[in-house]
Amino acid sequence: MTFWLIEVAYLVASALFVMSLYWMNDPKTARRGVGAGVAAMVVAVAGTLFNPGIVNWGWIAGAVAVGFLLGVPLSWVPLTAVPQRTAVSHAFGGLAAGLVGAAEFVLWQAHPESFTAFRTFALVAEVILGFLTFTGSLMAAGKLQEVRWIPQRPVTYPGQNATNIGLLGAAVLCGIALVWKPVELAFLFPVIVALALAFGVLLIIPIGGADMPTVISLLNSYAGLSAVAMGFVLENRLLIIAGALDGSSGLILSVIMCRAMNRSFTNVLFGAFGQVQQKAGPAETRTAKRETPEGAAQILGMASQVVIVPGYGMAVAQAQQRVRELYDELTKRGIDVRFAIHPVAGRMPGHMNVLLAEADIPYDKLIEMDDINPEMPQTDVVLVIGANDVVNPAARHDKASPIYGMPIIDADKARMCLAIKRSMNPGFAGIENELYFADHTYMLFGDAKVVVGDLVKQLSGGSGL
Ligand code: NAP
Repeated sequence: MTFWLIEVAYLVASALFVMSLYWMNDPKTARRGVGAGVAAMVVAVAGTLFNPGIVNWGWIAGAVAVGFLLGVPLSWVPLTAVPQRTAVSHAFGGLAAGLVGAAEFVLWQAHPESFTAFRTFALVAEVILGFLTFTGSLMAAGKLQEVRWIPQRPVTYPGQNATNIGLLGAAVLCGIALVWKPVELAFLFPVIVALALAFGVLLIIPIGGADMPTVISLLNSYAGLSAVAMGFVLENRLLIIAGALDGSSGLILSVIMCRAMNRSFTNVLFGAFGQVQQKAGPAETRTAKRETPEGAAQILGMASQVVIVPGYGMAVAQAQQRVRELYDELTKRGIDVRFAIHPVAGRMPGHMNVLLAEADIPYDKLIEMDDINPEMPQTDVVLVIGANDVVNPAARHDKASPIYGMPIIDADKARMCLAIKRSMNPGFAGIENELYFADHTYMLFGDAKVVVGDLVKQLSGGSGL
């Protein structure tokens, strides 16, 4: 009876996990997807608690309490910190898998018949992937959080790739030895753990803070694969299914992000992107034109087609509500306002969609890059709010630019461009943006929330527009 109860719970949980991913594909059903994911987890945990093999409820209650104590504050982080928060979750996932693997290894020593070649192989894979995900994810979170003692820039040294591959190779060789003689060579187990922990750190240090979101998604995939291996070790089908979903979705997301940045996986992992760029010659002295909120409000008020391009700066400023008010003011005047969404605007996939949805901007006004670009030449005003790399025309023509080949939103093709940012500082890729020096571009310097608020004030009657 209990067996069937657990099997049914696992079947329901697996179906809910699949549906959760499916629903999360679309902003309209994303909330349902999150609900299904939570329900799947609850059913999975509840089903597991029916396991007759449970020997100590006290430990389980303690672990649940610790999970709550850590998990609840993690849910309070601001949206801009979600990538690093996600990395911390993966670190816990990796640590859990690694520790379960270590516990099983110790328990099996008393029952050497448990060490079948396949299960020992799965256990080694679980431990290597789990522990490297643990330290790798912590390093990634630290880089994104700009922790002082973790350098943001890629740290490179000669022979780095060979060292890293050597370290991983050594862990794999120790693992093969363990599969061969798991009891006699048990002393190799802590060596594998140490090598995997070190590999996690060394894998991440040559990667710039800028590439961390892609790497976090890849680490998500490793955590999923270690859960698959754990499923084989514990002979638990649900873990195999959920881990495979996690592993494949993380990988697919990384591939989507790489494509949207026109980068390859090897370039992200080994390209040390984000190193200080050496200037070829003396910098040109170009000046950007400024505009005041009054002038900008007048320009916007006279337009019939406005496209807003949000970027990371809108997220930093938490300006989405003000942007909604601006949208309301402009649409009230019969102006057609749409939002151009670049797939990697911000710091995580869907970042802009989430923020704009939070401000209740209608989904049908959010237009994907490929659909909005052909309409740019007919657009009267494009308003760039805290975006930089995703509107940099250098990506189209400057072969020497680190973002060359990345698809961009063609803001430069609109009749006029207004750009809100605090300074002329570069964005994520660390490069100057020629759009801001173009003849038809006017800069509105200041925090996005303040400047958009000023525009709203001007349009809502303050200036009599
Ligand atoms: P960006 O290139 O990083 O530029 C953001 C701009 O916002 C900065 O130039 C900054 O200029 C401005 N800013 C910051 N705080 C602001 C504030 N409070 N008010 C007004 N402006 C502010 O951002 P993006 O154009 O969105 O491009 C995203 C970049 O991230 C791309 O290079 C992409 O490849 C990369 N990336 C994205 C993802 C993803 O999944 N979304 C993943 C990996 C990498 P000031 O300092 O002058 O204000």
